[in-house]
Amino acid sequence: MVETVFAPWEDPNASPLISFKNVTKRFGSFVAIDDLTLDIYEQEFFALLGPSGCGKTTTLRMIAGFEPVNSGEIHLGGRQIDEVPAFERNMPMVFQSYALFPHLSIFENVAYGLRARKVENKVVKNEVDIALQLVNLVGLEGRYPGELSGGQQQRVALARALVLKPKIILFDEPLSNLDAKLRIQTRLEIKRVQKMLGITAIYVTHDQEEALSMSDQVVVMNKGKIVQVGPPEEIYNRPNSVFVADFIGNANFIDVDVLEVKDKTIVVNLQNQTLEINNSNSYHDIKVGEQVYLSIKPEAVNVTQNEAKFSGNLYSTSFLGANTEYEIEFENIVISSVQKNSESDLKTLTYGSEVSVDFNVDYLQIFRKE
Ligand code: ATP
Repeated sequence: MVETVFAPWEDPNASPLISFKNVTKRFGSFVAIDDLTLDIYEQEFFALLGPSGCGKTTTLRMIAGFEPVNSGEIHLGGRQIDEVPAFERNMPMVFQSYALFPHLSIFENVAYGLRARKVENKVVKNEVDIALQLVNLVGLEGRYPGELSGGQQQRVALARALVLKPKIILFDEPLSNLDAKLRIQTRLEIKRVQKMLGITAIYVTHDQEEALSMSDQVVVMNKGKIVQVGPPEEIYNRPNSVFVADFIGNANFIDVDVLEVKDKTIVVNLQNQTLEINNSNSYHDIKVGEQVYLSIKPEAVNVTQNEAKFSGNLYSTSFLGANTEYEIEFENIVISSVQKNSESDLKTLTYGSEVSVDFNVDYLQIFRKE
């Protein structure tokens, strides 16, 4: 059986659920969002990813109706919604701080939105029970938020959003207050419920692993602008810029000179040896002699005591459990390498020792200096 891949953005006939059309948002003279054009599709898990201050939360708040736009338009299901007030949009938001009412029981916290809509008691009971079941919190309805763990409180916040049967849920860094293990558990929980109910999730995070592991599509933002949009694999494997390669893949960047420009590859000089790299960003006007960045992901750096093409010196070692990270002095900079422990033969080496270095060229990229 052929499994259908969820990729509405690739279907020319699919219409987006939410569209930003040249949206600009200023705070005074400061441009927080700069001419943003973006489509989000129904049932999509869509992450807004980028460093602090890049405009993720502002984008989310404009979708929710908490921030007016200065120019451009936001459309929901083909209808312009800039004038629609937040309370009419039915897009609950789940916050980092949970934002539960401490004096209300878990049941009443979840019921809050239904009570505000004057839903009758019997229906409220039924709907709250279903929402609590969805997030695995049955049995805790009589407790108060202060009597729950952070992870449980965040699941209450999720239930409180789900009970309103929204088409869209907005998440603003919902897992940032949880410890590492709970973060992973809760992100699986959110993803499971989102896919099961077919809800569109728009999810703000500065954590690349969270964005990559949860999303159908990721938009990487910097300084109020989109840098790249695509499925996680594409963003990770084919970053379109130094910014994305650095932010997503923690890539190492080495200055190299271009020796030859071929049809689909670029040959560069590294330690007086040649290295042929895929021209994945299709730089057609690159010149021989031009200095470019060679981008190398840590997992593409193989460090060994055996003979290899290049050489460096061991600078530091960090044991990470399944992997070990090595920092290597290489070409006057320090580059990092992440290797599975089983593949490593470096345990006995002292700092400063000469090591051999090789690269998996499939994971190398050339970036032009801007
Ligand atoms: P973080 O991850 O730190 O929350 P972010 O990417 O969500 O960052 P935003 O909160 O959207 O960033 O802020 C984008 C820019 O707009 C920042 O420089 C911020 O200081 C500025 N900004 C946001 N809200 C306001 C406001 N109400 N008044 C003035 N400036 C604001």
